[in-house]
Amino acid sequence: MPSENDGVMIILSSPSGAGKTTLVNLLTKLDNFEISISHTTRKPRPNEIPDKDYYFVTEDNFKRLIKNEEFLEYAKVFDNFYGTTRTPIIDKLNKGKNVLFDIDWQGADQIRNKNLDYKLITFFILPPSRKVLFERLSNRDMKDKLIAEERMKQFSRDVLHWINYDYVVINENLNECYSKILNLIKAEINNGSKDYDPNYIRSHVEKLIS
Ligand code: 5GP
Repeated sequence: MPSENDGVMIILSSPSGAGKTTLVNLLTKLDNFEISISHTTRKPRPNEIPDKDYYFVTEDNFKRLIKNEEFLEYAKVFDNFYGTTRTPIIDKLNKGKNVLFDIDWQGADQIRNKNLDYKLITFFILPPSRKVLFERLSNRDMKDKLIAEERMKQFSRDVLHWINYDYVVINENLNECYSKILNLIKAEINNGSKDYDPNYIRSHVEKLIS
């Protein structure tokens, strides 16, 4: 049964290249914050640790989890499936842990629409400009430039989902962005005053999509 001492659900989403994963990893270091480990059908990257970064599963296994209704949310992102299983999340929240979700806008929509009895705070992370995003996405060779161009097109579509989030935060400087998110989480949990200017965010998004 949900109670006052339950943890809070915190979702961070962003278009590719905005630096969200680094932010989530910083927030996980806080006392009482735990990350939700997703299942994915994507192959592990060389630096990734199975069962820590993701539970890497086959498509058959993923489909079995869908059939057994084990997912709180799941989505296809690029060419792979990603999903959050319900039981570990509810257990953590009931123990008073705050749970961080590094998931895309489709997953955020699904969790929001579930109207669970736990407090939910959603953040959408944006880059400071299209130019900086392109620089972050491209490396030296031409192949990376082509991938970066593809990701820029995806960015133009993904950015439109900013409107459904509680807070949009611009990641120009990692430490400042981290402090901003942390202060907003604290203010939400303690019902304190929030340092947030929706008009500034709206005009920033308009610049990014113009
Ligand atoms: P990557 O493959 O780069 O680790 O992640 C690709 C995208 O999938 C990121 O935007 C990430 O936030 C999202 N993602 C990771 N896990 C989940 C999940 O469990 N559910 C959903 N809906 N998206 C996820």
